[in-house]
Amino acid sequence: MLQRRSLMQGGAALALLGLGACATPTPSKARVLVVGGGYGGATAAKYVRLLSDYKIDVVLVEPNSAFVSCPISNLVLGGSRTMADITTPYDALVKNHGVTIVRDMVASIDATKKVAVLASGPTIAYDKLILSPGIDLMWNSIEGLKAANDAGTIVQAWKAGTETMALRRQLEAMRDGGVYALTIPEAPYRCPPGPYERACQVASYFKATKPKSKVLILDANQDVTSKGPLFKKVWAEQYAGMLEYRPQHKAVAVDASSMAVKFEVHDEVKADVLNVLPSMRAGLIAVQTGLANSNARWCNVNYLSFESTAAKDIHVIGDSIQIAPAMPKSAHMANSQGKVTAAAVVAQLNGWEVNPAPMLTNTCYSFTDAKQVIHVASVHEYVAAEKTFKTVAGSGGVSAAPNEVEGGYAWNWARTIWADTLI
Ligand SMILES: Cc1cc2nc3c(=O)[nH]c(=O)nc-3n(C[C@H](O)[C@H](O)[C@H](O)COP(=O)(O)OP(=O)(O)OC[C@H]3O[C@@H](n4cnc5c(N)ncnc54)[C@H](O)[C@@H]3O)c2cc1C
Repeated sequence: MLQRRSLMQGGAALALLGLGACATPTPSKARVLVVGGGYGGATAAKYVRLLSDYKIDVVLVEPNSAFVSCPISNLVLGGSRTMADITTPYDALVKNHGVTIVRDMVASIDATKKVAVLASGPTIAYDKLILSPGIDLMWNSIEGLKAANDAGTIVQAWKAGTETMALRRQLEAMRDGGVYALTIPEAPYRCPPGPYERACQVASYFKATKPKSKVLILDANQDVTSKGPLFKKVWAEQYAGMLEYRPQHKAVAVDASSMAVKFEVHDEVKADVLNVLPSMRAGLIAVQTGLANSNARWCNVNYLSFESTAAKDIHVIGDSIQIAPAMPKSAHMANSQGKVTAAAVVAQLNGWEVNPAPMLTNTCYSFTDAKQVIHVASVHEYVAAEKTFKTVAGSGGVSAAPNEVEGGYAWNWARTIWADTLI
C-alpha cells in the first residue's frame, strides 16, 4: 500500500495521498494528522495505527529528517555519549506501521475547515489533528538573548540538535579555570530536573579535564525544582568547590560582548560559556492557532481525551499543554499522553466510548556523572469528579542516592522509550 511506505518531502507524499495544493474533502476513510514527530507526536502516530488495526490513515508532519532525543543529550555535553547515540531515523514508523511522513512544517491550521497548511504550500485536510509541537523559547523574556543566540555566542541547547554540539564545542574550547554559567527560568519549563542534570554533566567533564573550572547555576526559582535534596547532596559531595547553586536569580538581560548576564535583583555575572534558558511556552504553531488559552502560554485540554478546550477535533499533548497537578513536562509523560490520546481519537472516530479512567506514568532519570543516576517516578490517574489527573497515592518516589545500577536502568529506559515511540 502506498500509505504504508511513504517517507518523503511534503509535495511527493501529498501527491501519493491524492492531495494537491488545495484542501480535498474529508475522505470516507478517516485521516488523523499529527503535527510534530517528537516524543508525543511520534508515539501518537504509531499508536493510532496500532489501535485502529491499521484502518485509520495517519499523516505525520515533521521538519527534521531524524528524531534527536533531548533525554540523554546532557551526556553529549558531558562527553560520555555522542549525537549518534541519541538519534533515531523515522523510517520504522513508515515501514512497520504505515505512517505517512511529510517532511515539512505546518504553517497554519484552520480549525473550522479542519485543514492544515504546510510551509511549502500544500494543505492537508483532517478528521482529527494531534498537535505535539513541544516548546517555544520566549526570547523576548531576556533582553539581548535573541541576537546573541542568532550569532551563536549564547546557546540554549534545550532542543537537542545542532545547539547541543555547539555548546559541547564551547565547553571543549573553554580554558581550564573558566566559568560555565547556566540560567534557569521560572517553572513551568521543559524537564524540571534537566538543568540540574546538565550542571552535573558539565561539572563531571570539568572534574576530569579542567579541574580549576567552575559551574554556576543561576536559578530564577526559590529552590531546586526537582530531586532537590539528592542534587544538593551530589553537588556538596562530588563537586564541592566546583559547582555553585544560586537560587532566586531571574535573568533579565545578556550582554554578549562582555559575556555577562543581568538579573532582576542581583549583580551581573560574567562567564566564559553562558547557557541561558529563557521562559518557555507552547510550541509556536499552538500559540498561532489560538490554542494557548492558559496565560497565553500553555494549551488547556480536556484531560480525558486531550482535546483542546479552544478547538474541536484538535488534541494537544506533550510539553505544550497546561499541566495537571504534579504532571511534569517530560518525554515519558508526552509518550504516555500520546497513547491515551491515540486511544481516545480511535474511539471517537469509531463512535466508541472513550476510556473513562485513563492512567499516565512518568519516570525521569538524571545522570549525576557518566554512570551514576537518580530517578523520580509517579503514576497519574484521571479523577472524573475533578476532570483532572492526580498522582496515585503511594505511587512512585525518588532514589535514595545516586548509584550505578540505576545508570543501567536509565540507559535501558532511553532505548525502550525510543523503540516504543519510533520502531
Ligand atoms: C536537556 C534535556 C533533558 C531531558 N531529559 C529528559 C529525561 O531524562 N526524561 C524525560 O522524560 N524527559 C526529558 N526531557 C524532556 C523531554 O525532552 C520533553 O518533555 C519532550 O521532548 C516533550 O515531547 P513533545 O512531543 O512535547 O516535544 P518534542 O519532543 O520537542 O517534539 C516536538 C516536535 O514538533 C516539531 N514541530 C514543532 N513545530 C512544528 C510545526 N509547526 N510543524 C511540524 N512539526 C513541528 C519539532 O520539530 C519537534 O520534532 C529533557 C529535556 C531536555 C531539554
